[in-house]
Amino acid sequence: MPRVAFIGLGRMGHGMAGRYLDAGFSVQVWNRSQKKADDLIARGAEWGSSPMRAAEDADAVVTMVADDEASREVWLGEKGVLASWQPDRIAIECSTVSYDHARDLGRKLGWRRISYIDCPVTGLPDAAASGKLTLLVGADAADLERARPFLEPLGTIRHFGPVGSGTIYKLINNLMGAIQIAGLAEGLAIAEQAGLDMNLVLEAIQSGVTASPQVLRHSKRMVARDFAGATFTAALRHKDAAYAVALADSLLADKPLVGRAAVEAYARAKAVIPDDDEGKMIEIVSRPKGRD
Ligand code: NAP
Repeated sequence: MPRVAFIGLGRMGHGMAGRYLDAGFSVQVWNRSQKKADDLIARGAEWGSSPMRAAEDADAVVTMVADDEASREVWLGEKGVLASWQPDRIAIECSTVSYDHARDLGRKLGWRRISYIDCPVTGLPDAAASGKLTLLVGADAADLERARPFLEPLGTIRHFGPVGSGTIYKLINNLMGAIQIAGLAEGLAIAEQAGLDMNLVLEAIQSGVTASPQVLRHSKRMVARDFAGATFTAALRHKDAAYAVALADSLLADKPLVGRAAVEAYARAKAVIPDDDEGKMIEIVSRPKGRD
């Protein structure tokens, strides 16, 4: 039975860890707050008291935590995975991290002869729980073949090239998302303030040329101000856009990138509603109803 350790049981990681239980793997789990592991333990997972302990006997470790800082902590911290891990094992980082961090982690694990799979994902928590994520992989081809049995329960693999290339694409994807969502919020706020019929505006947006999947999903929610069940928060969107712009600055320095404005827009949202749905951007840019 393949042995996997899963670290980080938030909105995404919880469902991903469950996929390994469904597929018959032996699963060790760890999360900063233990309570989120309760139902996985009831389904057969075992609790590790730290990332190091959870990883001890695992063939592969998969991590899904918030950001660079959390990733550094669970891999390289005092009780991190690397504190006990042996060579020739497989490390799969699914969190969205910065390009510099992905490369740095790849180097540090490579020195230990551990196969490193840079593997951010696209898809919402429901896709995570049903094995329908898209895995944006940056890895050596031989490492990817070794890791394939640990990736297949999670979704569809897209191999972009060497370590770091999965993260490059993920950051591009999420920067474009930030621009689209912030742009949509502004467009809708202008329409509301100008007194347009918002049902008609919604109908026109949904059937028009700007109707990307992001715009389709968020336009309905923004017009209805219905943000129940946050799937992706303002703080996470800001983090991804900021990592993407840091990468852009290294490749396209001095170009007038609109992504910088999206980072500023999401910095404002993060300051007031960090844990709310990213679509609440509409509330940041619109005037309260009934006021000029
Ligand atoms: P989340 O629900 O906020 O979960 C974040 C996870 O990171 C939790 O397990 C949290 O532990 C852990 N964590 C945070 N800081 C930590 C630290 N310093 N040390 C150890 N653990 C720490 O976020 P999520 O939505 O699952 O997102 C997880 C990752 O997936 C992020 O990188 C995000 O950008 C990416 N992603 C999200 C989506 C989405 O739709 N939500 C889609 C694709 C990719 P606690 O439970 O103890 O707080």
